[in-house]
Amino acid sequence: MREINRIICHCTATPEGRVQTVEDIRRMHVKDNHWSHIGYHYLIYLDGTIHQCLDESIPGIHCSGYNKHSIAVCYVGGCARDAKLTEKDTRTPAQKEAFVKILTELHKRYPQATLHGHREFAAKACPSFNVHEYDYIFK
Ligand SMILES: [Zn+2]
Repeated sequence: MREINRIICHCTATPEGRVQTVEDIRRMHVKDNHWSHIGYHYLIYLDGTIHQCLDESIPGIHCSGYNKHSIAVCYVGGCARDAKLTEKDTRTPAQKEAFVKILTELHKRYPQATLHGHREFAAKACPSFNVHEYDYIFK
């Protein structure tokens, strides 16, 4: 098993309410970006369902310099429905609950790992909310 020391949260940076599936993201990452595989391990749909995209044993492609020892959890959304795609916490109530579920599971599997938002490591708004509201899960 690879060592996991960080759980890093992301958003798809798509407008509020727009559906995005694992296949949409995979197409973007593999076909458009020419990556070897999809970047995230988990994708949380608007309805709160959690979809595994990548085996946890395989490093994701999601946070430059931090992929090797992290797990990536991404939710669909993160932008307002305006032309500028302004950052916005668009999590639906179901997505908020899904974060609790997946982060609780990941904390059980990787008790030493800490929780982070992508924006802690890059000049980005991602994931458009403060992930540390979930820090209580990691105590
Ligand atoms: Zn991100």
